[in-house]
Amino acid sequence: LASTDFSADVLVIGAGQSGLAVGYYLRRAGLSFQLLDDQPAPGGAWQHGWDSLRLFSPADASSLPGWLMPRPVDHGFPVRDAVIDYLTQYEQRYALPVQRPVRVVEVQDSGQGFAVHTTAGTWQARAVVCATGSWSHPFVPNYAGQADFGGVQLHSAHYREAAPFAGQRVLVVGGGNSGAQLLAEVSRVAQTTWVTEKEPRFLPDDVDGRVLFTQATQRYHAQGGAVPAPPPSLGDVVMVDSVKEARERGALSSVRPFARFTRTGVVWADGREEAVDAVIWCTGFRPALSFLKGLDVLEADGRVATTGTHATKRPGLWLVGYGSWTGFASATLIGVGRSARATADEIRAFLSGGVTSTL
Ligand code: FAD
Repeated sequence: LASTDFSADVLVIGAGQSGLAVGYYLRRAGLSFQLLDDQPAPGGAWQHGWDSLRLFSPADASSLPGWLMPRPVDHGFPVRDAVIDYLTQYEQRYALPVQRPVRVVEVQDSGQGFAVHTTAGTWQARAVVCATGSWSHPFVPNYAGQADFGGVQLHSAHYREAAPFAGQRVLVVGGGNSGAQLLAEVSRVAQTTWVTEKEPRFLPDDVDGRVLFTQATQRYHAQGGAVPAPPPSLGDVVMVDSVKEARERGALSSVRPFARFTRTGVVWADGREEAVDAVIWCTGFRPALSFLKGLDVLEADGRVATTGTHATKRPGLWLVGYGSWTGFASATLIGVGRSARATADEIRAFLSGGVTSTL
């Protein structure tokens, strides 16, 4: 690995919504920082969302710190490309210093801080913030016979549109919002079966992401800051228009998982075989943190032990935006600002006096 090519007080890895929110508060704190992102363009994971993807909250309830997302002209919830535009403009508006495409390959202890090895040279940094999200690390559960299945397998991370599945027999696996929304879309053109571990939990029709966030925030404060337990949960299915329409068509019923794959389909728990052309995995993601393996902070589940957003075992290292384990609602546009602000405050204290965590 190369010797040091560049340096910054704070290096933020990832410039999706989480990295940008951290950048906003680092700028306000007057710190020297740099963001690195491995994509060719702004927008983080939203660049890879499917074509019909809409937020499940209105624009003003889906905003990063400092600047509200503009309202869509059609008065609906913002579409994918509107989020990408917003993040692109946000980056410019606050002159956030992002270098892309630059992929972080490994973070090592350098004695005085961190040596961050990338596809464009090595950075020296006193503090590192991981904001790499999870899109690049899709999770697919293990099923017997999966490797021999001759049909198509696609994770929701790579799904764009229903057209390639027209006329096919498709299993949509996973009971969260991605599963419900892709089922709603694919069931219009294909013969679908929705496979979920247990009966999906549908929110009332009038509960959108904003209501959910507000209710969960109230419980969060009532519990003195502990992460709220369901119900309702941010993972429950929001009844966006396409999902309501699928319910009206009778396309929303679900079955429990199959036992194994065959070459041409699946075998259900009762022994019945069924031919299947394609399986769409809506089974979630894991944090994209493999570049931390040299620091000895990764736990068996791929996460890092945290106190607030600070890595409990490693001074100078923070993680923002990965979900409740890095801060309440931190994997949402509206929720990440709070974690980002606390993180910038801690980094300022750390750089000036060596304090690692105040949360
Ligand atoms: P990302 O957007 O993934 O950004 C991380 C960036 O880091 C990416 O550009 C990535 O390529 C880059 N990166 C990764 N590894 C490296 C590396 N080693 N080196 C350099 N760069 C790297 N939230 C809401 O608030 N409202 C919604 O309605 C909503 N709907 C959603 C619908 C779907 C289908 C999904 C999947 C999520 C939704 N979310 C929603 C959740 C959330 O807003 C996103 O998951 C969000 O993209 C997470 O932002 P992030 O910045 O943490 O990660």
